[in-house]
Amino acid sequence: MSYSWEPQWIRKKFKISEGLEIETCYDSSTGLLLCPLCVDISKICPSYTEPTSIIPENAPYFFSIEDVIYHMKTHSRVESKKLYVEIEEEEETEEEETEE
Ligand SMILES: [Zn+2]
Repeated sequence: MSYSWEPQWIRKKFKISEGLEIETCYDSSTGLLLCPLCVDISKICPSYTEPTSIIPENAPYFFSIEDVIYHMKTHSRVESKKLYVEIEEEEETEEEETEE
């Protein structure tokens, strides 16, 4: 069986909840997504703008980011935790102590 699929992987950010987003590979030709824990996204989709056509081996594909997130829950919590990028939104912690 030969591959006729030529994916166009680009890196894409998905907001998954308030203050949390996830980065993974998105194939702009088919709309498929990869699990960033199953593949090395720095290899498959190193760029946000220049697509690669690497066909990942033994990697599951997903049709929506919800599917990816659902799947990622099957990975260990520690594993997936490093994936989440916490966005700190204007919530400045007051580290400066004001003395009265
Ligand atoms: Zn996975």
